Amino acid sequence: MSTPEKVIYMDNNATTAVAPEVFEAMRPFLTELYGNPSSIHHFGGQVAAHIEAAREQMAALLGAAPTEVIFTSCGTESDSAAIHSALSLCPKRNKLVVSKVEHPAVLNLGKDLERRGYRVSLIPVDGKGRLDMERAAEMIDDDTAVVSVMWANNETGNIYPVAELSELAHKNGALFHTDAVQAVGKVPMNLDDLSIDFLSLSGHKLHAPKGVGALYVKRGVRFRPFIVGGHQESGRRAGTENVASIVGLGKAAELASAHLAEETAFVGKLRDKLEKTVLETVPSVRVNGDPEHRLPNTTNISFEYIEGESILMLLDMFGICASSGSACTTGSLEPSHVLRAMGIPYTAAHGAIRFSLSRYNTMQEIDFVLEKLPPVIARLREISPYWKNS
Ligand code: PLP
Repeated sequence: MSTPEKVIYMDNNATTAVAPEVFEAMRPFLTELYGNPSSIHHFGGQVAAHIEAAREQMAALLGAAPTEVIFTSCGTESDSAAIHSALSLCPKRNKLVVSKVEHPAVLNLGKDLERRGYRVSLIPVDGKGRLDMERAAEMIDDDTAVVSVMWANNETGNIYPVAELSELAHKNGALFHTDAVQAVGKVPMNLDDLSIDFLSLSGHKLHAPKGVGALYVKRGVRFRPFIVGGHQESGRRAGTENVASIVGLGKAAELASAHLAEETAFVGKLRDKLEKTVLETVPSVRVNGDPEHRLPNTTNISFEYIEGESILMLLDMFGICASSGSACTTGSLEPSHVLRAMGIPYTAAHGAIRFSLSRYNTMQEIDFVLEKLPPVIARLREISPYWKNS
């Protein structure tokens, strides 16, 4: 298969391009400024100030104080650190409450905790992926140590009522964690005004590099480090800092803060044009998720009676990158756990494609996808026995 001339990248919930400004900010820390921030000498010590500057940039994006930000290696580590801390500091409580549509970073941690004797309750969702808040209220009780519900879903883009859930957790004496890996930089946040105890984020979803993330821990909330050893991050996360990536994450946060409103409006316009035109021009399609409460950059569209993987392969020949379900489930033939939790019929769940956009997409790219996609769907349906019998 020949390599397409250019890449039309619409898989930004899987990972994003490093912003050129981010790369430039990182460069000195990969070349001349290689000192260890913990060193006593000036050459190393000067680097520490840049980590603190990045912490301030990150805090500004979150509407938090710099002392509430701990740098980590990724979103998965932040999720684990928050949940482990909550459980180990509330030894009398034995229960974790999470939604059925969490990322595997939380869901599989829940399964592991179950094997270690904890109880895990999974909050169900309806056909649009909306959380069953009545069931959530029943599940969160005085045995619950921590409630963990994502701010936004990576597959559908659905946004969850984290403010309400944190109140519910606190009413029952539990802590509240949110995996905001997909939300940070895409929705405005002011954590000072909310009672969220822990929030996880990841650099590579935000135009910073892979392998860096952060955990927000609200002032006054007790925290037990997940990784112990050195004194780094004020003793809350040991290990020599990934300085260049932390500086890059700070720059990415600064860019997101500066352009959030205009960028989300722009990206939302592109997404809406793509989604609306597909719905109008391709038969037997449905949008999965809650159009009322959704990230502006994401659309999850089911093309009924065909396989998502086949659609992806044909789109790939034109250089179009999208995803079927979450990146982590690609390669397995099972429909994603998110679409299954929503009760999407198999014939639709198998043909689900997620397009996730970023500031670097253009209307020309949307038009290109709208030109290539309908014939791809028609071609696959011609050879689909399910389509013929539908
Ligand atoms: N949580 C969500 C919602 C995600 O989408 C992802 C990545 O896809 C993660 C957690 C994991 O983040 P990381 O890749 O930084 O470990």
